[in-house]
Amino acid sequence: MSAFSTPLSPATDLDGVMAALSAVAKPAQAFIGGSWVDARSGKTFDNHTPRDGTLINRIAACDAADVDTAVIAARTAFEDGRWTRLAPKARKQVLHKLADLMSAHAENLALLETLDTGKPIRDSRAVDIPLAINTTRYYAEALDKIYGEVGPTPDNRLSYAVHEPLGVIGAIVPWNFPLHMAMWKVAPALAMGNSVVLKPAELSSMTALYVAALAVEAGVPAGVFNVVTGLGHEAGDALARHMDVDMIAFTGSGPVGRQLMRAAADSNLKRVSLELGGKSPQIVFADCAALDAAAQNAAWGVFYNQGQVCTAASRLFVEASIKDAFVEKVIAVAKSIKVGDPFDPATQFGAMISERQMHTALGYIDKGQADGGRLLLGGHRVQTETGGFYVEPSLLDITADNVLAREEVFGPVLSVLAFTDEAEAYRLANDTVYGLASGVWTASLDRAMRATKALKAGLVWVNGWDACDITMPFGGFKQSGFGRDRSLHALYKYADLKAVSITFKA
Ligand code: NAD
Repeated sequence: MSAFSTPLSPATDLDGVMAALSAVAKPAQAFIGGSWVDARSGKTFDNHTPRDGTLINRIAACDAADVDTAVIAARTAFEDGRWTRLAPKARKQVLHKLADLMSAHAENLALLETLDTGKPIRDSRAVDIPLAINTTRYYAEALDKIYGEVGPTPDNRLSYAVHEPLGVIGAIVPWNFPLHMAMWKVAPALAMGNSVVLKPAELSSMTALYVAALAVEAGVPAGVFNVVTGLGHEAGDALARHMDVDMIAFTGSGPVGRQLMRAAADSNLKRVSLELGGKSPQIVFADCAALDAAAQNAAWGVFYNQGQVCTAASRLFVEASIKDAFVEKVIAVAKSIKVGDPFDPATQFGAMISERQMHTALGYIDKGQADGGRLLLGGHRVQTETGGFYVEPSLLDITADNVLAREEVFGPVLSVLAFTDEAEAYRLANDTVYGLASGVWTASLDRAMRATKALKAGLVWVNGWDACDITMPFGGFKQSGFGRDRSLHALYKYADLKAVSITFKA
């Protein structure tokens, strides 16, 4: 049994928190077929905290052999029906119990998430963990409301269509919202009656392992939920190529998304759903009646989570007549953001996930300037003395041909561009291979309605950024991927539709 099943005592002082966390974080085995196991090869990889760069622990580096064991465990559990054939009411109770346990352990989960990712503890406490719990509850509640349909048939036939679980789901998730993204996939997949093999990002495995321990306590049967830790090109690739995985549900980068589609084509034509990030535009028209709110959202739309958000509003389009004044407001908001130790409850902006990601962001700031961009704010690594990976909120004035108008940074870099009329705003906003999120600020209902139709993105927000929740589908158009997380659409993604016709003597 893992020490993750041992609750931490809530610690209030930082030293106490760190001591308790390093105790709970030491064992880092994978969770396969209901058991805690080392990688068969015995290999591990180092896990550092971006807070100060120090080593937290070593984590089992699973490879194809471990993935195979996990898939066999998941398939066996699926075929013998220990989960999928439970009455919906019983499965619902188990998932609610899991959500209850996650709530009871929320503080530990939040501390672990911050330790692993460097994100501010206030965000882990207020956003990541509560939303992961809410997701689990939403799908627990939805699972006994799945209905099929009866077709219009001749008198001597009954035809109906039913949703059947796909079987074994491979979930490959990123490090920016580790537990939240994991539950976006694990909760609906389990709710539909599937077995799951979860591959967390190598930079953020800990909360997934913790929840595996809670799932045991909640009554999720052995083999139904497995966590295979490891590197993307080893464990992740093995999962994607496995002949007995029915679907890969993925959030992460475009290049890996493409590889997953190739792996599916080269193996068993498993289904793939991809959530791949973007270069999301936020448009501010001069008629906006809430410029202060727009400025808040312009800043936080990209600086939240240190810019490591797939929907980050990284391109800000401002009508030329108000651009200078509006940019001043955005700069004022950005300057007020408190950068600091992720474990300080007052910190609003913490460390980036890794040294590599930090250098990627800094590199883009350089490239943006080399492309003619004008640095208006930030641009540097900060808190270097901590050994952690901190980049200050940064803002550049650019034109549409700049690299920062095209490529996803996944860091705290906001680019501002001017437009002169509505048509130009939509043309520039849509001038990207991505299509995840978009936003518009205007007092005109007519213009808002036109914008919702003109913007080519899976999410459109009017007069508010990121204004939606678990009840609404989340996913992209174009190269931001396909398939939806959240809402009932995500539930049906993990099912096949079977049409049954029964002919009888009328
Ligand atoms: P990534 O796509 O490399 O990793 C995401 C997940 O995929 C991780 O679990 C990783 O282990 C796994 N993976 C990596 N290579 C794999 C492979 N060959 N086969 C199967 N699985 C594999 O993303 P990253 O390295 O963590 O970040 C790189 C970039 O990805 C970022 O700069 C950002 O642009 C993007 N990203 C996007 C999101 C998002 O929410 N859309 C999240 C994280 C990162």
